[in-house]
Amino acid sequence: MTQSYLMTIDGQAAPTSQTIPVLNPATEQVVAQAPDCSRDQLEAAVTAARRAFPAWKATPYADRQAALRAIAGVLMDNAEELKAILTSEQGKTHGDALGEIQAAAWWIGVVAEQILPETVNDAMPGQRSVTRHVPLGVVGAIVPWNFPVLLAIWKIGPALLAGNTLVLKPSPFTPLSILRLGELLRPILPPGVLNIVCGGDALGPWMTEHPGIDKISFTGSTATGRRVMASAAANLKRLTLELGGNDAAIVLPDADVDAIAEPLFWAAFANSGQVCVAAKRIYVHDSLYDRLSAALAKIAADVKLGDGAEQGTRLGPVQNRAQYERVKGLIKDSQDAGHRFLAGGDVPDEAGYFVPITIVDNPPESARVVQEEAFGPVLPLLRYSDVDDAVARANACEYGLGGSVWSSNHDHAAEIAARLETGTVWINSAQGLTPFAAFAGHKQSGLGVENGLEGLLEFTVPQTIHLVRKDT
Ligand code: NAD
Repeated sequence: MTQSYLMTIDGQAAPTSQTIPVLNPATEQVVAQAPDCSRDQLEAAVTAARRAFPAWKATPYADRQAALRAIAGVLMDNAEELKAILTSEQGKTHGDALGEIQAAAWWIGVVAEQILPETVNDAMPGQRSVTRHVPLGVVGAIVPWNFPVLLAIWKIGPALLAGNTLVLKPSPFTPLSILRLGELLRPILPPGVLNIVCGGDALGPWMTEHPGIDKISFTGSTATGRRVMASAAANLKRLTLELGGNDAAIVLPDADVDAIAEPLFWAAFANSGQVCVAAKRIYVHDSLYDRLSAALAKIAADVKLGDGAEQGTRLGPVQNRAQYERVKGLIKDSQDAGHRFLAGGDVPDEAGYFVPITIVDNPPESARVVQEEAFGPVLPLLRYSDVDDAVARANACEYGLGGSVWSSNHDHAAEIAARLETGTVWINSAQGLTPFAAFAGHKQSGLGVENGLEGLLEFTVPQTIHLVRKDT
């Protein structure tokens, strides 16, 4: 069988002797065979990236900006094809897949306009000191399966703009859209500037320990992030780790239930809950709990779950079997503990990794469904009567990725928001991320920053040049 999805190494298609089947999570049928990169092929990718680095670094900034704009154009021009591939491997709806491709195009277009600053430290007579930001070299980028294209673009854009070259690895669960994008970009970028590799469990560690890679930009789980950090220590690789979260949403007593029910529902369940900054625990004031829980249950009952390629589907399956089993395990744990369900709770035994929207009715704070990141369509709704208690429970968590506060009083909400120990807090919304704003995980949710100027700077290292003029 000829391979239809190939890696990109040194600007060329790179077939592999081994392949990995990629399944459609809605049907569990094989969509395509993905490449399984050998160690020699990773060597070739790193060598190509190293070889391409000096010229790419020396490429005028304006030309690198133009390259990013060209990538945006390729995404837009091929959005329909990429959308279909993305739905078939990831499970999200066609609408959400198209939204992801379009968001990626917009994102990299915005990044293209960013400027690396230069700071004049002092300019006394006879001397001048300037700090600028120079590229690191070869970046190893590792991305997960929930937003394969968008999260890859978060790394490709700033890494290339800053003058680095890249070896990028998608998740073996969702490699196809990125492999196809790599193929589409071959005529756009010089050979070796963007290498796309794909493989099984061995490939990530080969990258993180590789002495020819200067930085790892990783998005994935906290458990894997710890392994990445340990492995990267050997040659002091720079690291950006965007990791897991267990975001709390706090609904204050003055919130307008009718206005917030719908956005709160999608804050929790968009992409079937497989969003790092999904609302994963919702704390609701006693006075609103019954009305809000009824409203959320009603929305859940009306949302169509199904194959993302079918018209009318609003939510797709969980992306892979391991995650499906994990989410089912959380539901079973709640069932065994006698928790009540406001929605869902029974997972049908049929083809596809479908988990009905499940809302658990005020389980104890110590329940697994509260304490663990579900990363699936399972949500605990929790009562509180004292807002200080809600803030304390929200903060009593190893994660610190995001959080949200829902209220009609913006000043009060802002006060509560400032007390959350997370890198991002939303008021009356959640999940909204932009290329303009720094996105950083506190506590065990990560290290470093993506997006915004801070995110761009993470792909550089400062260099200060001191000049003493002999002639003055
Ligand atoms: P994961 O950690 O299992 O895998 C992420 C990537 O790392 C994949 O490409 C995988 O192949 C690779 N990998 C696995 N083991 C590795 C190792 N030892 N060394 C190097 N690479 C390795 O995560 P996942 O299941 O794909 O994604 C879900 C997790 O990602 C959730 O916890 C979610 O919250 C988190 N996430 C975080 C963000 C964020 O920006 N903070 C965004 C999306 C997802």
